[in-house]
Amino acid sequence: MARIKDEDIDLLRDKADLVEVVSSYTPLKKASGSTFKGLCPFHSEKTPSFTVDTGKNLWHCFGCGKGGNIYQFVQEIETLPFAEAVEWVARRFGYELRYEDQRPGEAHMQGLKRRILEANREAAEFFHKTLLDSPDAEPARRYLKSRSFGHEVAERWKLGWAPGRDALWKHLLAKGFKQDELVKADLVRVSDKDGSIYDVFRQRIIFPTWSLQDDVVAFGARAMGDQQPKYLNTSETPVFSKSRFMYGLNRAKSSLGRGNDAVIVEGYTDVIALHEVGIAEAVATNGTALGQSHFELLKRFTNRAVLMFDADAAGAGAAEKGWGLHQKVGLEVLVAPVPIDRDPADLAQEGGADAIGKVLETAKPLREFMIRRTLARLPLDTPEARADAVRAVAQVLVSDPDSISQHEYVFFAAREIGVEPDVVQRELAERAPRGRVATGGSAEPDAQRRLPGHVKVEREALQLLLTRAAEVAIVAADVQESDFTSPVRRELFTRALEAAQGAGRSGAQMADSLTPEALTLLTELSVGEIDLDGEPLAQRAHELFVRLRVFSLERELKGRRGVLQELNPLKEPERHDALFTELVGLEARRRDLLKMLQGENQDV
Ligand SMILES: [Zn+2]
Repeated sequence: MARIKDEDIDLLRDKADLVEVVSSYTPLKKASGSTFKGLCPFHSEKTPSFTVDTGKNLWHCFGCGKGGNIYQFVQEIETLPFAEAVEWVARRFGYELRYEDQRPGEAHMQGLKRRILEANREAAEFFHKTLLDSPDAEPARRYLKSRSFGHEVAERWKLGWAPGRDALWKHLLAKGFKQDELVKADLVRVSDKDGSIYDVFRQRIIFPTWSLQDDVVAFGARAMGDQQPKYLNTSETPVFSKSRFMYGLNRAKSSLGRGNDAVIVEGYTDVIALHEVGIAEAVATNGTALGQSHFELLKRFTNRAVLMFDADAAGAGAAEKGWGLHQKVGLEVLVAPVPIDRDPADLAQEGGADAIGKVLETAKPLREFMIRRTLARLPLDTPEARADAVRAVAQVLVSDPDSISQHEYVFFAAREIGVEPDVVQRELAERAPRGRVATGGSAEPDAQRRLPGHVKVEREALQLLLTRAAEVAIVAADVQESDFTSPVRRELFTRALEAAQGAGRSGAQMADSLTPEALTLLTELSVGEIDLDGEPLAQRAHELFVRLRVFSLERELKGRRGVLQELNPLKEPERHDALFTELVGLEARRRDLLKMLQGENQDV
């Protein structure tokens, strides 16, 4: 992947429909003017603070502070590096990108990734063809058929058979792949003993994993004989990390996008079986424990996930991880345990979508599930037994970071045990870490109101410069970078002034090359209408930029006065005089500026 031409990056940014792209992740409603609002896909919220400004081609979330143009949105939501986000947008809008030559290091890494994806695609084809045609694969075909995975299913999911020893290695070598590429793709390994090369997957049924962009990024492989482990997966490669992908998500995402809950199952065959009976929201991890990163991945598409595990696995594995997820990730986790000794694939095979639907109907919030599960193992028939139960439940509840839901579950648990809620509450209070503050549902304080005066002025001046450049460029010309007190505001001012004077790039354009802090500030200040309180823009701008200068002069004066006090006029008379004259000059300028402000205020 060579470097994309800057010109194309600009053209595509202007052409691509930001609202259309954002809408496929979170519904947007038209707000005022050129803005649209919706619930933020990056943090959990109940009132929309995610704003898209079509006039400026920028978005900003006033809740979590993220913002940018269409590329940053795609980067963020699809976890893609910049160039890949541009390519993603280009694919989406059928735009043909042009490339130019790039630096060798970059080219090498991009080249390697591309080669690995090509090798994976070729390997998937090879495995698949082998499954369909090879006599050697007969037991695998029989096994898959026994799970209702016939020819068509195998084709839809590109299931395969890895014959092994070194069949894939030879095949890919003949196709022109290099040993180094295939080792890095984790498709072949080099024997420690004799340096010979062998396939990673041998005598196994193959389940390819796709990225959200429909590239084959990894393989899961099930043993047919007594081989250990039963499931073997591609390890980390330049194109694959177990924490960043989920099996089936590329197919599930459109259903999730329509508002359905994700259904998390344990195995590849469960995912396939559920999709095949029409439950298109099923996903699984790629042979790794469910972790926060998986929930974050799902959160991009849905607000709820149902764990369809057997009760032990759900209780043991997912429970601690599920705690606090609702707050941390904004994803609500429910548990719908499958009966012992049955997996979702069995249920789907025996009873179709109805059987799965029945289990999903039993889904309970994770906390409730944990409480019930804890209590199910305890007798509640004596005061002593109930006391034990209260202690056990408190143990479960104490780690809940959401004090509001915790409070509700105290009542639920008390009712289940048959004691007063106070009893559970007291036990909980004794265990709670000291100094813990209730955090549930607290609204973000309006940080803006508490900003110091000069910061407010700097921000407002920047805002005008960014959004009403043509009208304020002239008054802003007197202002300097050094009039701003933070590096972020300085950075943004310099870029905004260039743009206002016609030499730089618009807000949406400059977004690609700002530091993350400046980007956040850019979108925060640019997105949406600005409220001038009925004041004419020219007057407001003039006042702001004068105030900005005044604040800056005052800082300068303070600095000089400090130096002057340290100076001994007898020892350094010339320096002292010069500094004194300077001070007088600064004072005079400050007075003039203040007069200007007063004059304006009297005119109103
Ligand atoms: Zn947000």
